[in-house]
Amino acid sequence: MFDIARIRADFPILNIQQNGRPLIYLDNAATMQMPVPVQERILSHYQTENANVHRGVHTLSQASTAHMEKARHTVAQFIHADDDEIIFTSGTTDSLNQLSRMLESRVRPGQQILVSAMEHHSNLIPWQEMSRRVGAKLRIIPLDSRGDLDRDALRQLLRDSTTLVSVAWVSNVLGTVNPIREIAALAHDAGALLVVDAAQGMKLGPTDAVSLDCDFMAFSGHKLGALTGIGVLYGKKDILDMMSLVCFGGGMVGNVSYLSSTWGAVPQRFEAGTPNYVGAISLGAAIAYLSSLGIPEIARQERQLTELLQQELLSVPEVEILGSPQHRSGAVSFWVHGVHPFDLGVMLDALGIAVRTGHMCAQPLVEQYGVSSVVRISPAFYNTQEEIKACIAALKRVIPMLKG
Ligand code: PLP
Repeated sequence: MFDIARIRADFPILNIQQNGRPLIYLDNAATMQMPVPVQERILSHYQTENANVHRGVHTLSQASTAHMEKARHTVAQFIHADDDEIIFTSGTTDSLNQLSRMLESRVRPGQQILVSAMEHHSNLIPWQEMSRRVGAKLRIIPLDSRGDLDRDALRQLLRDSTTLVSVAWVSNVLGTVNPIREIAALAHDAGALLVVDAAQGMKLGPTDAVSLDCDFMAFSGHKLGALTGIGVLYGKKDILDMMSLVCFGGGMVGNVSYLSSTWGAVPQRFEAGTPNYVGAISLGAAIAYLSSLGIPEIARQERQLTELLQQELLSVPEVEILGSPQHRSGAVSFWVHGVHPFDLGVMLDALGIAVRTGHMCAQPLVEQYGVSSVVRISPAFYNTQEEIKACIAALKRVIPMLKG
C-alpha cells in the first residue's frame, strides 16, 4: 500500500506556503523534488567521505571512488545493465550531445537519421547538427492524430538506408509512452541503432535497458530526485568499445606521452576530468529511495494521477488538450482559446500552484498543434488526487477572469 502521507514527509518542500497558499507542485516533468534521504546522503558525503576520486592513494580518495562506483552499480542494476555500460554525464542533454559526437564517424553522407516529431530539443538539435556536419539526412517520424508515433510511417522511412533512430520513451509534452521494444525491433531489422531519450521514462518501470533492447539510453538524475548536473548515458558494451572519444583529459587515459596517448577502459575513457562524483552518489541514493517505494507502485500512482488529471481537464470546456495517446504518463499539456498560457501560469502561481508554460523545449511539436505555447501539468507519485482537483478548480476560477 502506497502510504502517501509518509512519503510526503520525505519531501518537506511540499509543505511550504507559496504566495500565501499551500504549495501544489505540479511541475515534476521539469524536475522532481529531492527526498530527505538523498539530501542526507549528500550531507554525509561532505561531512565524512569527500575527496576527489580515482587519483588518490589516500584512504579518503579511495573511499570516495568506491562510493561513486557503488552508485554506478546501483544505476546499472536499476536498468539491468553492466557497470561498464554506465557513463556518467551531466544530464540527458549532455548524454545525447556526447553520443552524437561519439557516433559521428560511423555515419556516412546520405544515410538517414530518424527522430520523432515529439522530441525535446535535446534529442533533436544534436542530430540536426551531426547530420549537417556529416551530410546525413535527418528525417522526422510523424505522429498520428492521437499523438502516438506513426509506426507505419516509421516502417516506410526505415526502407531507406538508416543508421540511427532516436526517440523519447515518454514525450515531455504529450505524455505519450512510446512502445520502445517494438521500435527497437523495427530499427534493428533495418540495421539501425536505437537511442532512447529516457528523461521522462525512468519511473515507468520496469526500466530494463536490456529487455527494451535499446542500444543507448540517456537520462537525468534531477528528474529522479538526485542532484542537477548528473546524468547517464547507457550504451551496449560491444558498441561502446568501438566508439570514438570526444572529450580528453585527466582520468580517461592509459599512457600519455608528449605526442600521443592511449586510453583507459570503458566507461572511464568516456569520463574525462573530475566526474560529478557527488552527483553520482546522489543518483545512487535517489534510485535506492525510489526502489524502496517500489517502481511499479510509483508508475501506477503516476499513471492514475495523470488519468485523473486528463479526466478533470476534459470537464473544463475551454481547455484544448494536446493529443490523446493510447498510453499517457506524467504530463498533460493544453491551451485555452483567447488566453495566453503565460497568464494562466501566473494566475495559478498566485494561488500556490506551480505548473509550466511555454513550448516545453519542443517547439516544432507544439507548433504542429497550431499554438506557440501551452500549459503543462505534470504530477509525480507524491502528489495527491486532492491537489489535482484543487488545480482544476483553480483553473475553472481563473479562466473566466482572463477571458474577461
Ligand atoms: N528529453 C526530455 C524528454 C526531457 O523532458 C528533458 C527535460 O525536460 C530533456 C530531454 C533534457 O533533460 P536535461 O535538461 O536534464 O538535460
